[in-house]
Amino acid sequence: MTNSQVEKLIIIGSGPAGLTAAIYAARGNLNPLVVAGREAGGQLILTTDVDDFPGFPEGIQGPDLMDKMRKQAERFNTRFINEDVLSVDLKKRPFVIQTETYNLQTITLILATGASAMWLGLESEQRLRGRGVSACAVCDGFFFKDKNVIVVGGGDTAMREAQFLSRLCKSVTVIHRRDQLRAQSALIELVKSKPNVKFIFNCVVDEVLGQDKVTGVRIKNTQTGKINTMDVDGVFIAIGHKPNTDFLKGQLPLDEKGYVKVVNETHTEVEGVFVAGDVADFHYRQAVTAAGMGCKATMDAEEYLGNLTS
Ligand code: NAP
Repeated sequence: MTNSQVEKLIIIGSGPAGLTAAIYAARGNLNPLVVAGREAGGQLILTTDVDDFPGFPEGIQGPDLMDKMRKQAERFNTRFINEDVLSVDLKKRPFVIQTETYNLQTITLILATGASAMWLGLESEQRLRGRGVSACAVCDGFFFKDKNVIVVGGGDTAMREAQFLSRLCKSVTVIHRRDQLRAQSALIELVKSKPNVKFIFNCVVDEVLGQDKVTGVRIKNTQTGKINTMDVDGVFIAIGHKPNTDFLKGQLPLDEKGYVKVVNETHTEVEGVFVAGDVADFHYRQAVTAAGMGCKATMDAEEYLGNLTS
């Protein structure tokens, strides 16, 4: 980890994508170095019960799953730096990665910094996260079986969340701040066809109600200012995700939302730089799909390194 040492592979990020990449790389003799970030573990650290990750028939807590993945990577001597990356220089070869205290160099790089759900920014919303407030229907929807929930947002994510929840919940109410949905029309039609889904337009949630768990929401009409309360058991925030790519701006192509552009599978437009998980994938966004992509990224990096020496 000294300034002069050139690594074969550095992985930035320590969610399921980064740690799976590390496990494969360590077992493949690439001696990987993971820059794990100050808040290591990714979004699963913020999740409670994970019931859909294969191999855990009784379910597992999100932080426990990440702890196990990290221990598995450490078992094969993966090295970790628990710092954030401040900047990268992908125009130089080897690539340069600057963390808070290290100046690192590497021949290949896997970007696995994930994305963060966007929140409304209410104190009550943050206090009740994991207690009825969620940003992932696929992860947490099951806990609201036969219950009444709301989904906040009017984009594709909100429609997907509403569609998923409509199969489990007694009622799903989509609350959107305007009277026009942003989502693609096919998805809107699909959701509108569900008998247990209804829409409330021109409204925002301005308070989540409940002490230890969600009991309702207070809703404000954006046109009239009128306030209403609604009894609900679950609040799903679906107002978008922000990929964690600020440090990549100007270094490699990002799409208009800031996601890393993928050329083919895990290849980016910069040769030797690979990508895995939510930082490039806004569609599936599951721990298991991120892990799968982490595995692929390492295999692609291995192949790239092999071609350099052959
Ligand atoms: P999005 O398209 O940016 O939509 C976010 C929604 O949340 C918008 O309706 C927005 O309202 C609303 N919103 C934003 N901030 C808000 C706030 N503070 N309070 C209340 N409402 C707020 O995000 P997304 O739905 O996550 O989609 C992101 C990208 O992934 C899109 O390109 C989408 O097409 C893609 N995606 C595709 C699929 C698929 O199945 N094809 C599934 C998921 C996502 P306004 O409309 O008023 O701005």
